[in-house]
Amino acid sequence: MEYDAVVIGAGPSGSFCAKTMAEGGLRVLLVEKKQEIGAPVRCAEGVGKEDFLELVDVDRRWISVEIEGAVIYAPDGTKITMSREHSGNEVGYVLERKIFDRHLAEEAAKAGAEIMVKTRAIGLLKEGNKIKGVKLSRMGEIFEVESNLVIGADGVESLVGRWAGINTALKPNDVESCAQYLVKGIDVKPYCEFYLGSRFAPGGYAWVFPKGRDMANVGLGVLGKYSGEKKPIEYLNEFLEFRCPEAKVVELIVGAVPVAMPVEPMVADGLMLVGDAAHLADPITGGGILNGMDSGRIAGKVAIEAKRRDDFSAGFLKRYEKEFMEKHGKIFKRNYFIKEKLMGMSDEEISEIFRALKDVNIEDLSVFGLIKEMFRKNPKILFELRKYFL
Ligand SMILES: Cc1cc2nc3c(=O)[nH]c(=O)nc-3n(C[C@H](O)[C@H](O)[C@H](O)COP(=O)(O)OP(=O)(O)OC[C@H]3O[C@@H](n4cnc5c(N)ncnc54)[C@H](O)[C@@H]3O)c2cc1C
Repeated sequence: MEYDAVVIGAGPSGSFCAKTMAEGGLRVLLVEKKQEIGAPVRCAEGVGKEDFLELVDVDRRWISVEIEGAVIYAPDGTKITMSREHSGNEVGYVLERKIFDRHLAEEAAKAGAEIMVKTRAIGLLKEGNKIKGVKLSRMGEIFEVESNLVIGADGVESLVGRWAGINTALKPNDVESCAQYLVKGIDVKPYCEFYLGSRFAPGGYAWVFPKGRDMANVGLGVLGKYSGEKKPIEYLNEFLEFRCPEAKVVELIVGAVPVAMPVEPMVADGLMLVGDAAHLADPITGGGILNGMDSGRIAGKVAIEAKRRDDFSAGFLKRYEKEFMEKHGKIFKRNYFIKEKLMGMSDEEISEIFRALKDVNIEDLSVFGLIKEMFRKNPKILFELRKYFL
């Protein structure tokens, strides 16, 4: 079996990359270790509307709820509400990822990619430093496929990068350990709720993302360095008791989210890492669907050009990393900086700022406007932030 490119992992990043390459005429194989693409969902499923619409034409079948705003609670319960127009880019839709991920893989297939499910990549085939293909395992059978190009889209626990010699280890300060219930029987509006503070989510936040009139994803992320003290699921049970004791649990998921700077380098000879495998989730929100899809799109375009030139060297593939960082690098640096500053604030400091902001006309604020206001009282931080906002 011989392909122009093998994509490992059929999440949104991998499927979008496979689709882009197949549309460009490449012979593409997309492999997924699970038997079903899209399930189980390890995600709260929120995406910003504007950026989402840049990537896809929306199909109502994958929209669970259209979000009208966000409510953010400080540790002392002080709340700030932001309305639809001003809630920024963080949340616009809550998706139905079981359908959405499947749809993206179907689009890749429609463009000509072959898909193998229940197939796990177990290693790279190499000749010296040069990648020659991938070793796969399917239902007890081990076999090899040849390809000059491999795309590592295997998520936050990525092994593909490591196999290629890229350091993808995450520091405890750069990863959130998450737990989430899908619940039925909860009172929700089409607003996303965020709860800050160490009571429910030290170093992270708890969330309620509506999935219908009386359903929601209720979850939280605890920063890695705190997750040894108490398990995320224990925090989640307490949060559930606080927010919606009457709700019934329908599903439970656990997973990790990188809140780091992108992996460096994101490429090696014959290899590109996309999405969570390259740590491309937003360092403040942990949202990774859209960055992942965009990275898949850019990597796909570079792959088409690499094939045309028959040049799969790291030197050429570096164009992917350069284009991605030119578009997103500044936001990563800014948001990573903000994340670090937020981590350094006590519950009381955050609550005090929220209390002061209550009188500000919040309708005029975007999420980053809110953050700027939060730091306004600290001229040093605000000064450091200037370079990211200008
Ligand atoms: C609790 C939680 C809530 C979240 N909420 C949000 C949110 O609201 N909004 C948002 O934007 N992001 C959210 N995220 C992050 C988001 O889920 C990820 O950023 C996104 O799924 C990344 O897409 P991906 O394609 O890079 O990786 P994934 O979606 O993780 O896909 C990787 C795929 O690779 C497969 N795979 C792994 N190893 C192999 C192998 N060896 N061989 C074959 N296949 C393999 C996996 O089975 C998987 O299907 C959340 C994450 C968690 C854990």
